[in-house]
Amino acid sequence: MKALVKKHPERGLWMEDVPIPICNTNDVKIKITHTAICGTDLHIYKWDDWAKRTLELPLVTGHEFCGVVEEIGLGVTHYKPGDRVSGEGHITCGYCRNCRAGKTHLCHETIGIGLHREGAFAEYLVIPESNVWPIHNDISSEIAAFFDPYGNAAHTALSYEMVGEDVLITGAGPIGIMSAAICKFVGARNIVITDINDYRLDLALKMGATRAINVANDSIKDCYSELNIINGFDVGLEVSGNPEAFRSMLTNMYHGGRVALLGLLPESTRINWDDIIFKGLHVKGIYGREMYDTWYKMTQMLRSGLDISKVLTHKISIDDFQNGFDIMESGDCGKVVLEW
Ligand code: NAD
Ligand code: ZN
Repeated sequence: MKALVKKHPERGLWMEDVPIPICNTNDVKIKITHTAICGTDLHIYKWDDWAKRTLELPLVTGHEFCGVVEEIGLGVTHYKPGDRVSGEGHITCGYCRNCRAGKTHLCHETIGIGLHREGAFAEYLVIPESNVWPIHNDISSEIAAFFDPYGNAAHTALSYEMVGEDVLITGAGPIGIMSAAICKFVGARNIVITDINDYRLDLALKMGATRAINVANDSIKDCYSELNIINGFDVGLEVSGNPEAFRSMLTNMYHGGRVALLGLLPESTRINWDDIIFKGLHVKGIYGREMYDTWYKMTQMLRSGLDISKVLTHKISIDDFQNGFDIMESGDCGKVVLEW
C-alpha cells in the first residue's frame, strides 16, 4: 500500500510502498480517506532534535485521520465494514493504576500511532477496537480527520468552568483557534487570543474570539478598558508552547485564576513564580484527550451547533503532500487536510 514514510534521518517524508498492516484479534482495519497534518508531523518532517530523540526509522507517520472500516478482527463487536470512523491515537496499557481507574489519559505507558508505531498517513491503518471512534452522519469526514487536535482543544477549553469568564488564549494555531470557538460556544464572556501571525489571528476572530492581539505590536493590557476587564483574566489556556507567551499569561491572570497548559514549553522556560504563588493560580497540564469523555463532548458539541469548519483552510490531494507540508511550514494556514 501507499504510505508517507519517514525513511531517512534527514528533512523530508517519502511516499513508499509498504505492506498492508495485519488486522489481528480485537483490531479494526480502516481504509483511510482523509488525514490532517499536525505540528508534530512538521517536527518529524523537519527532523528536529525532538524527532531525533523520539522516533525509530523507518516509520509510517501521521495520527489525524478519518476513514471507513475495511475489516474487523476476531472479537470485534461494535464496528462493521463500511462504518465511517476516526480514532484515538494514544494506545494505553489497560493495566496501570490510572487505566484501571478509567483515567486512561493519565496512563504512563501510552504509545502514539505515527510516533511509536505505524501511523495513519497510509491507505490502511490498524488500531484496537477500543481506540476507534464512530463518526456520526451529521459530521463530515474532512472535519473528522482532525478530531485529534479538536480533542486537544476540547480537553483544554472544557477543563474549567467557562460561563461568564474572561479567557486569555496564548497561541492562535489550529488548537488555539478551535479552543476559542469552544469557549464561545460554552458561554465565556471575553475571549482574547494572542499570536504573532495575523493570518491566524484573523481566523480566530472568525471562529469566535472577541479580540485578537498581535503581541509583536501590541500589549495584552491594551484591551482591558475596551472589554471592561478590571483585574485580569479568570481562565488562561496556553496553547503556543512559547515561554514569552506563558509569562505574559501569568502576568495577566486575576487572583485565583485557572490556567491550562497544552503547548509544549521548553525545559529552559523561566517564569516569575510570584505570579503563581501570590495570586493562588491553579495550573493544570493537559495531554491528549480524556478517553473517551472528550470524544463524546466533541461529537455532541458539533451536533448541537458548534462550527469549527473555518479552521480547515486547505484541502490537498495526498499526491501533492509536499505542498501541504510547505503550507504548514509557512504558518499561513489553519488545518491542512490531505485527501487519499
Ligand atoms: P502551532 O505551532 O500551529 O501553534 C502555535 C502558535 O503559537 C503559532 O501560531 C505561533 O505563531 C504562536 N506563537 C508563537 N509565539 C507566540 C507568542 N509569543 N505569543 C503568542 N503566540 C505565539 O501548534 P498547534 O498545533 O495549534 O498546537 C499548539 C501547541 O500545543 C504546540 O506547542 C503543540 O506542540 C502542543 N500540543 C500539545 C499536545 C498535548 O497533548 N499536550 C497535543 C498537541 C499539540
Ligand atoms: Zn495504563
